[in-house]
Amino acid sequence: MRRKIAKKIKAKQDAKALIPDLLKKSKLAYKKGDKKLSLTYSKKIRFLYMKHKIKLPKTIKRQLCKHCYRVLIPSINCRVRTNNNWLVIYCLDCKKYTRILLN
Ligand SMILES: [Zn+2]
Repeated sequence: MRRKIAKKIKAKQDAKALIPDLLKKSKLAYKKGDKKLSLTYSKKIRFLYMKHKIKLPKTIKRQLCKHCYRVLIPSINCRVRTNNNWLVIYCLDCKKYTRILLN
């Protein structure tokens, strides 16, 4: 039983280490014009954090679209504006907003 828990913890750590690398790959693929490959990578990130219940840091969370799970690259496929203490991120792929309260 204890071995099973240790295995689970190790899998979670492995997944955590994998996420920044996947994000980098996804961005590179998007910049090269391969949107399908980019989406595969960013969906894999979602799969990992959902499966292992990983809480993503703010820096990574803001680089992924909440609605279509694509990677967000400012000035290429998203628009970032501030409006009345809100940070508004507009995804140009699915045309939806994400708002983050600033303080
Ligand atoms: Zn989107």
